[in-house]
Amino acid sequence: MKKLYSVIQDDLSVCFVTGSTNVAIHHIFPGKGRRKLCEKYGFLAALEPEYHNMGSQSVHAAPNTGLDLKLKQTAQRYFEEHYGTREEFINLFLTSYL
Ligand SMILES: [Zn+2]
Repeated sequence: MKKLYSVIQDDLSVCFVTGSTNVAIHHIFPGKGRRKLCEKYGFLAALEPEYHNMGSQSVHAAPNTGLDLKLKQTAQRYFEEHYGTREEFINLFLTSYL
């Protein structure tokens, strides 16, 4: 299996928010087929359960706001700086978050 990497953070063994080592690997853009795209482009984040899917403000509980929106915007900015145009981004991930 190909090693997972992230363009959002250097070390996927620690939480993006807190630095805790109790983490799950989060795919920043959800949906059918997009997990693989997230892995291809490095759009992954390591998150503590509280910020992943346990807390009321976690990325899965509160999508497209707060931390989740910040991650999506950071990933899209990286895409547009390194991979392709906004139109190409939308073709892959369905919408623009910027
Ligand atoms: Zn997740």
